[in-house]
Amino acid sequence: MLTLTDVTLEYQDGDSTLTAVDRAGLEVPAGCFAAITGPSGSGKSSLLAIASTLVTPTGGAVELDGAALHGLDRKSAAKLRRERLGIVFQAPNLIPSLRAREQLEVMARLGAPELARLDRAALRERIDAVLDEVGMLDRAEFRPSQLSGGQRQRINIARAIVHSPAALLVDEPTSALDAARSREIIALLRDLTREHSLATVVVTHDVEHLPEFDRVHEMRDGVLTRVR
Ligand code: ADP
Ligand code: MG
Repeated sequence: MLTLTDVTLEYQDGDSTLTAVDRAGLEVPAGCFAAITGPSGSGKSSLLAIASTLVTPTGGAVELDGAALHGLDRKSAAKLRRERLGIVFQAPNLIPSLRAREQLEVMARLGAPELARLDRAALRERIDAVLDEVGMLDRAEFRPSQLSGGQRQRINIARAIVHSPAALLVDEPTSALDAARSREIIALLRDLTREHSLATVVVTHDVEHLPEFDRVHEMRDGVLTRVR
């Protein structure tokens, strides 16, 4: 379970203070597919960055299965992020020179001590199972430039779950995709959430996708409200 309690983030904006996230509360159990929607600039990415341990909140608590994610030193935060979280950012950040299978291999070795101990064949079997799950096994040898936007997003997602995280945090995964591709990506995220019992949070401002989610939250001026 991913839990945010009274999370606040303030940015210094010249002489004044901008409250990007205002006492936000969020509960996402394992296996739950949760959406955060809301207008641009309302604080959605800020909230996700806090849940990802990349930004330290000004106040409040973030917990994953009862362990604090806020207020960690940088080294502990990085270790926790590598091992327990799956993160898919808005901007594509695949490594251009690596083939799809290699993208996953790097993350598996970094994020999962038990996978890092496997021999090459066993690790490859595990990675290929994940590539198969996202429908990309036949593209395992492709580099990012040889893939479409939707295919790159599938590799991004596969890379985010290869180390079996507890929570999956995804920022606007469909903003660069057409409607059909967007639907496929949302369905894939939902299926992976179920299959791997992930506590998944997806930021999306596409209301068309909201019926796919178990829970829907809306962000407005930093204030998060559960609408369903
Ligand atoms: P969203 O993802 O909903 O578009 P953001 O979380 O990116 O919203 O931004 C929320 C608010 O915080 C906006 O007013 C934005 O300008 C401000 N903001 C975001 N990042 C920073 C930053 N690093 N420094 C100052 N203000 C920021
Ligand atoms: Mg954003």
